[in-house]
Amino acid sequence: MHPTRRWLLPALAAAALVLVAGRLGPAADAPGSGGTQVPAGEFHDPGLLRVLTPFLEAGRLTPQDATALSQFPLDRALRLLGAHLGPQQDCDEPPFSHDCMELPDLIRPPGPDSIDVTHYTIEILELNESAKSFRAVTNVHLTGLKPLDALDLDLAKVTVTDVGMTLRGTGAPFNSTFTHRDSVLHVDFFPTLTPGSSADIQVAYQGTNVGCQDTRGLRGGIVFTTEGVHAFSEPTYARYWYPCHDVPWDKATFTLIVNVPPGRKASAAGILTDSVTVNGQDVMTWVVPQRVSPYLASFYVNDYVMLTDTSPGGVPLEYFVYPQLVDNAQTDFANLPDMVDFFSGLLGAYPNPRYAMSLNVFGGGMEHQMNSLIGSNLIRGNRTYETVFSHELAHMWFGNLVTPEYWNDVWLKEGFATYCELLYTEHRYGFDERKATVALIDTVYKAALADPDSPIKDHPVAEPSPCKIFSWVVYDKGARVLDMLRGVARLQSIPVSVEPIPSREFEAWTRAGDETFFRILNRMATEHAYGMITTDDFLAIARSEIGNFDQFFDTWIFDLAYPVIALDWKQEHGDGVTRLRVRMCQVWQDGVPRFAMPVHIRYRSGSWTLDDRLFLNPAATLEWAVDLPPGTWEVEFDPDDWLLDTHRRVPYFANFAPAPPYPNPSSTGFTFSGELQGEFPADGSLAVYDIQGRRVWDAGLGTFKPGPVTAGWDGTRNDGRRAPGGVYFARMRVGSQSFLQRLVVLP
Ligand SMILES: [Zn+2]
Repeated sequence: MHPTRRWLLPALAAAALVLVAGRLGPAADAPGSGGTQVPAGEFHDPGLLRVLTPFLEAGRLTPQDATALSQFPLDRALRLLGAHLGPQQDCDEPPFSHDCMELPDLIRPPGPDSIDVTHYTIEILELNESAKSFRAVTNVHLTGLKPLDALDLDLAKVTVTDVGMTLRGTGAPFNSTFTHRDSVLHVDFFPTLTPGSSADIQVAYQGTNVGCQDTRGLRGGIVFTTEGVHAFSEPTYARYWYPCHDVPWDKATFTLIVNVPPGRKASAAGILTDSVTVNGQDVMTWVVPQRVSPYLASFYVNDYVMLTDTSPGGVPLEYFVYPQLVDNAQTDFANLPDMVDFFSGLLGAYPNPRYAMSLNVFGGGMEHQMNSLIGSNLIRGNRTYETVFSHELAHMWFGNLVTPEYWNDVWLKEGFATYCELLYTEHRYGFDERKATVALIDTVYKAALADPDSPIKDHPVAEPSPCKIFSWVVYDKGARVLDMLRGVARLQSIPVSVEPIPSREFEAWTRAGDETFFRILNRMATEHAYGMITTDDFLAIARSEIGNFDQFFDTWIFDLAYPVIALDWKQEHGDGVTRLRVRMCQVWQDGVPRFAMPVHIRYRSGSWTLDDRLFLNPAATLEWAVDLPPGTWEVEFDPDDWLLDTHRRVPYFANFAPAPPYPNPSSTGFTFSGELQGEFPADGSLAVYDIQGRRVWDAGLGTFKPGPVTAGWDGTRNDGRRAPGGVYFARMRVGSQSFLQRLVVLP
């Protein structure tokens, strides 16, 4: 799924909205409710749009609010947004907790399944758009995995009128009864279904204005909009329109039959296999021939015209659009053929017989199998929303072909599809466009973390809480982590012995790393094709390609935040060389993990650049020297923006300011204190000498963080005896500095 990032442009064009005394404008029309069409460029901070859209999607923010926020710089806008939304309880609030939504468990429930659904035949017998009602019959083809005389299917809100059950193969009927309450259709039957044998359960049901509903109306199930109808099932809404085993890992093939309302046209997931007219009504049949998760089934009804195209590689494309949007759609979808072939080259041949997109009222896109739902207000005739189209298309691999086994691993489809947007942007519009997008993601993330009231709450990319499975962090930081991994793979491909080298040569080395990274991406899309994938599978593939890199994954996938880097350099000239001394460390941040990964350093003198690879060390300050041709050299850290970080130049030497030891004189020992200034941690040690210069006691003090520092000596010598009274000297070392202080030990 893809929350639209730029869909509110029309509302913004109405512009110059209300911000009265820091309070956001009054709530008004729901998202998607029209306005004047404007070019994308009129919104001055697209980064802010990226942030606001999930909140708009969830109905927590109106387009008017967003317009008001757009008047402010990013950091201020985030603060206002946080104040506007108020404190966010983790799971009691939107974005994705609707009153009907059954939040998935945090992890896949333990224990084996009792059934395996192999095929669903869903027939929509009747759709009444004015009454928002439907009547359907679904045949669930399933295999027992243990002896069964009862089973449960997920089915919510509809009224069940009949349930029948037959043995597959013989057609022998079971003696069955059912109950339907609390979203569970429970079927008791006789005789027992033996493990390995299969049954068909046929369920007839109907509903009027039912589905997953919140204050803005129907969100899941069969959704009747002002323009048409679509079925929406992600993450746990399939049960609102057909009886199912509503878990992502129970993949099945589908037959979808729609009795199309007179005068309307339909499209659906899968491929069209049959279309007949009965008493003036079209009855259309689609088949999904490969097993997919229940949340990927869908159909659409609207006033469609079908546009067709074919990719240069031969993939048929179909677009179900409105007559009045044909021209705009032809412009907006013009790059789809190139997109399909680009992703096919990266991720393995497009895995389906066709790809389609169908329009309806929706605030983004949703990757139904072979036929994505696309919000009609995304069709502008200027390719503003091309990233959304690339995102949904990428899901045909990440999500549909290989499916996160459970919702805690949802970044394996959403982070990956968002990353595919970035890759297509780079392919189509160049590396600088990739850098611009990365810079936006990083800016938003850092601004959000800096503001405790920000509505974007940091959480691990993998294993978010159930209500965060579609959060900004899963999508955008997830994509950013993959981008960083590509940067790591590029740097890893350079032999350690290589000295700083000209940039062109450095680029050539890193291309091998690109191949490694894209092999990881390709293996992710192909090795578990038609099956399930977990974060552990990803780690295994990544490790086998670029080595054991646990600290990278532990920090970036399972932990929070990002590193802050301090570096400095100085140069010494002589003997026909300029010796550049560089120092780099991670600034200590409470509660933030220590990151470890290779980083790209560029030395620049005028237009002359040399490139180097260093390793960002998790614990210590790194110091190194390079001999460069005579000149005035600057150091650029991570010039291609692979790392999600903040870096800045700080003074080269840590500065320690000691206080006098106290009490002094003393018979009970001494406390040494001071302030370690600057950004660098430093190792400390303390030694005590008697008046003859003999060392009587010493100790290492470990690594000091910047800030107040204390150490103590209790007057005991290294030999365990008390130091006799007299004059002593204490030498305290902090980093490269040392201080001698006089002590008087009282007898
Ligand atoms: Zn998505």
